[in-house]
Formats: sequence, structure tokens, C-alpha cells
Amino acid sequence: MSKKILIANRGEIALRALRACKELDLKTVAIYSSGDKELKHLRLADETVCVGPASPLESYLNIPSILSAAELTRSDAIYPGYGFLAEDADFAERCEASGFVFIGPSSDVIRKMGDKITAKGLAEDSNIPIVPGYKGDMPETDEAIKKIAAEVSYPLMIKASAGGGGRGMRVVQEESELISSLQLTKQEAKNAFGNDTIYFEKFIQNPRHIEVQIVADGKGSAIHLGTRDCSMQRRHQKIIEEAPALDICQESLETTLQACLTLCRNIQYSGVGTLEFLYENGAFYFIEMNTRIQVEHPVSEMITGFDIVKAQLKIALGMELTLDQQEIIFRGHAMECRINAEDPETFVPSPGVINKMHPPGGFGVRFDSHIYSGYVVPPHYDSLLAKIITTANTRESCIKRMLSALDEFFVEGISTNHSLHQKLLEDKTFCKNEHNINYLEGSFLEK
Ligand code: ADP
Repeated sequence: MSKKILIANRGEIALRALRACKELDLKTVAIYSSGDKELKHLRLADETVCVGPASPLESYLNIPSILSAAELTRSDAIYPGYGFLAEDADFAERCEASGFVFIGPSSDVIRKMGDKITAKGLAEDSNIPIVPGYKGDMPETDEAIKKIAAEVSYPLMIKASAGGGGRGMRVVQEESELISSLQLTKQEAKNAFGNDTIYFEKFIQNPRHIEVQIVADGKGSAIHLGTRDCSMQRRHQKIIEEAPALDICQESLETTLQACLTLCRNIQYSGVGTLEFLYENGAFYFIEMNTRIQVEHPVSEMITGFDIVKAQLKIALGMELTLDQQEIIFRGHAMECRINAEDPETFVPSPGVINKMHPPGGFGVRFDSHIYSGYVVPPHYDSLLAKIITTANTRESCIKRMLSALDEFFVEGISTNHSLHQKLLEDKTFCKNEHNINYLEGSFLEK
């Protein structure tokens, strides 16, 4: 009997997971909220279950309702995707306790990696380069705290150990701001995460965002699928991603890649994951590990031919999968543009009816999306509509191919950031690969 997978997500990633399940002859259950009845993958799934009203808290984040749907449909495993419950250790634990396979690492590993101080410590133990700073106990007196901060040196960042999603961190430029910023960050962390433990990190001024995709089977085999460069960001949201990251110091890269694999083996990591780094002046600085699939996974798939979502399913279900680094052959360059339903200048979300749309196509063009003509983009969820991915022999031809794909692609009825992408792809700094994480919001938008 083939196994049944409940897909606990929506939009493009739910469709991506459904396609992978079909290829592996797995049965599928698609859950949805009452605001999401028109999702494309619902028509393709073997079964569908409504898990609650449109509000995400009552549907895609509603653990009892999702577990009931899994029980009702006699599902074997739950696929979390990204966002929602994907990195919620309690959810993974409750899946395990209810007898469902959680398609991801164990709840114990998710919990450890979700705590930034613990994650940094584990990374350091595996010789992964981390951002210099202080992660010990904070002393009682302001004077002693100031002394520690002076040793880290300004500018520095105060970060909440339990923080996530860009929340719970603050840059401190000089000593006079330290104590008030520290109190504010602690208060915010306590309110948002119920945990006010904080630590200091040196503020890296103009880094690139480079990440490493790993795949591990929890039994001692771990491979990497190389790097991605996701430096084109706005408010920590990635807009364009590419693989591999270019103009990187090969020596630092090789030791960092090996250290990432050591970490996976040390913590018996099972599944796919991403180690995120800031990169400046030839050095890598680990910031966090995401214990889930990432939006930008297709660019790594396109340069390696390795299906990351199928690997997730196979590892979790104990299906045969050989992980051999020698078999991963890197080829060419890939780039992804995230098309969001938002105004290209003000970035205000733009839900509503897509009257008409036409996807791009052709050699080296991949279109991962759940949208179609007549689809209504609901206002309740994130604004990602589509990912256009192009692959070519060089970065330059990848950019050309992306511009041509963007020319072909149109959506009528709602606003998208389509024109922002066109401008970025023609931007000199981007074309020369000279941008960093501050470029889009800084010099580019100020032009
Ligand atoms: P979260 O888990 O909330 O996403 P991260 O630790 O991944 O937090 O950091 C989010 C972003 O904040 C990074 O992508 C980077 O842009 C910025 N950032 C984090 N740490 C530093 C640092 N030490 N120096 C400079 N920027 C940083």
C-alpha cells in the first residue's frame, strides 16, 4: 500500500510537494482554509480537508485541527513546507507523539536549532565560523555589561536567543545607547517569545547573504548542494536568489562546507536544511540554520539536478536514497525572481482577482506557482505569487534569460513587483555582482 502524505501548507510549496508525492507514487491529502478553496493543488490531491477559517491562526497554524485531519484521512506523514508550522518543535513533537511522521528533522533538533545561542554553540563545536560576540550569561550591573560590549566593540547587535522572522534584534552604534536598547530588546523578546535571554554579536556592516544547502539522512551520510547568494533583500525578505554564489574565497568556502557537514553528522541531522551566513571580506559568519525547505531551493536543484523535495520525502519515509557527494555535479548558474502581489514602489500588498495571466516558458525557464487566470489572491497570507527560475551556462546569460521570461510573463488585475525585478536585472551593480544585503533598500531605491 502506498503511503499517504498530508500537505500542511498552501500556495506554491503545497503544489511543489504534491508534484513530488505523485512522482513517488504517494497518496496526498491537501488541507486548506475556508478562504483558500480555489487553490490549484486541491484539484490535484487525492483527498482534501478544510481545517478552519481563513485566519492562519485558526487553520494552517491550528495544530489540533491539522492532527485531526491526519487522523481522519489515516495519513502516514505530514509535510510542513516553509513558514506556518515548519519550524515549530512542538508541532513536530505532537506529530511524532500521535504516530505521524513529521517530514523534517526530529523535534529535538528543531528545538536546538531554533534557539540561537544553542545553535551558535553547536555550530562553533563543529568549527563553523560564527559572528564574534558574547553569548554567555549577562552580568547584573550596567558597568559589567558595558565592559563586555566594549570588548565585542561597536557597532554591535543585541539579539534575542528565541528571536526569529527578523524580530528580536537591535543594532547599537555606541555605548550611550546600550542599556536602553538592551532593556527594550529584552522586553520585546519576553512579550513575543516568552524568553528574554539575549546575546551580543558584532554588527557586520555590508555583508552578502550566502547560504549552504545540505541534505542528511540521520544515519551518518550528509552532502551539500553548494551555495546560494540571497543578498538582494528588502527588510530581510529575499527578492532574488541565485546559485552558486560567485566571487567567493575558495579556501574559506571549502572549510565552511566541510564544517556544515560535520555539524549535520554531529547532531544526527535528518532531512534537508540550510545554514545561513553573512559573508564579508572573504570570511563567512554563521547566523542561523533553517531546519526546513526554503523558498529558494529550486536554484540549487537547477544547478545540481537533485530534487530536494523528493529527498525530504524519501529520507522521512525511509525510502532508498544514496547520498554521495561525488555524484553531485554542479553545472551552470540559476536565478530565481520572487513575484509578489504588491505595489512595485510602495510594497503595499495587492490581493484580488487575477483576471488574466500568462506564464513564461522556454529553454531553461521554470515557473513554480499556484496562480491561474481567474484565481483570487486572498488577503490573509504572504504575498508570494510565483517563482520564476532561469538556468543557463553563465550568470550573464541567466540574467538575459530572466529578462526575456519577465517580458513574457504578465498578470492582469492586481499589482506585482514585476517591474522592480526588471529594473534590478538591468542594474549595473547587480549585473556586476557587487551588491550586498543593504543595496536594494539603500543606494538602489534612493536613486
Ligand atoms: P531571523 O531568525 O529573525 O531571521 P537572523 O539571525 O537570520 O534572524 O538575521 C536576519 C537578518 O538580520 C540577516 O539576514 C541579516 O540581514 C541581519 N543580521 C543578523 N545578524 C547580523 C549581524 N551580526 N550583523 C549584521 N546583520 C545581521
